[in-house]
Amino acid sequence: QPELSGDFGRIMEWADTARRMKVRTNAETPADARAARSFGAEGIGLCRTEHMFFEGDRIVAMREMILADTEDGRRSALAKLLPMQRSDFTELFEIMKGTPVTIRLLDPPLHEFLPKSDEEIDEVAAAMGVPADQLRERTEALHEFNPMLGHRGCRLAISYPEIAEMQARAIFEAAIQAGEDTGEHVVPEIMVPLVSLREELRFVKGRIDAVAGEVMQEAGQKIDYLVGTMIELPRAAIRAHRIAEEAEFFSFGTNDLTQTTFGISRDDAAAFLGTYQKKGIIEQDPFISLDLDGVGELIAIASNKGREARPEIKLGICGEHGGDPLSIHFCEKIGLDYVSCSPFRVPIARLAAAQAALDG
Ligand code: PEP
Ligand code: MG
Repeated sequence: QPELSGDFGRIMEWADTARRMKVRTNAETPADARAARSFGAEGIGLCRTEHMFFEGDRIVAMREMILADTEDGRRSALAKLLPMQRSDFTELFEIMKGTPVTIRLLDPPLHEFLPKSDEEIDEVAAAMGVPADQLRERTEALHEFNPMLGHRGCRLAISYPEIAEMQARAIFEAAIQAGEDTGEHVVPEIMVPLVSLREELRFVKGRIDAVAGEVMQEAGQKIDYLVGTMIELPRAAIRAHRIAEEAEFFSFGTNDLTQTTFGISRDDAAAFLGTYQKKGIIEQDPFISLDLDGVGELIAIASNKGREARPEIKLGICGEHGGDPLSIHFCEKIGLDYVSCSPFRVPIARLAAAQAALDG
């Protein structure tokens, strides 16, 4: 278990006395959550639930769900995923006890989940009890030319609401369980990804609220929770006042926001951004240090519009920039409530947030 001790720990504590913004972490595994807490993370700002399904039986169950061609098929795969998610979230809530945890609904660029080889197709076909050829056809039918702009994020939740419903149920049941185990009331924050239209958020929030109602009735107790959204598309930033009507918090997803503002693929940018830097076209890689004039301006616009519509709206950042000191200075300047970054960047973020507050 990593730990901040001695002089380093002391400097961190001094920094904390100057800091205004909270520092949270991006984590979905218990190990990351524990490491982040020991580095001083004050909550989870982003739990990427799709990352919980990359391995072992889990990826098979996830593939069964994605490749099911009926709602019944999807529901039976979801029934396998529900207990896994419930115990995932219970553990995270317990590790993060007393601090806020933001869980993002599934946001899988489909290509990361589709089977890639004959062996993988055979494995899922066997689990589903369908012929491999049929599954191969379904996999091909789901192929997208541009998965990062494709059927992901809330679009998936709108096509197949039962996925969001399963996750919402897992979150609420875990919140109750963790509350009982730790004696500490858990208020989960449920985050809807890749929203560009208020109506998208309204639709998904409606499903979340309905599940909350069911679970409260079953458990005979009240559950407090927040529903908010990622702001990671330019349209969402520009229409933030409308989106804020449905959102109790915004978290800026600057990875996608940089990608979609520049129209530069976040996965392919390295091939030419280095040349851009050498030739003096840009000073910094915008995927590393926030492009203040463009992406930053969109964040400032969205923050102002969000606050106009909902003065108490909670604002944070969870893209990679949340752990970059220059970007953190900008977040302080526009008054975000928190930054969220990978566990090992938490100490840097604490220091940078303190320096930013002192720079005032
Ligand atoms: C983002 O887009 O900045 C973000 C945090 O989401 P992800 O990196 O998972 O797309
Ligand atoms: Mg994103």
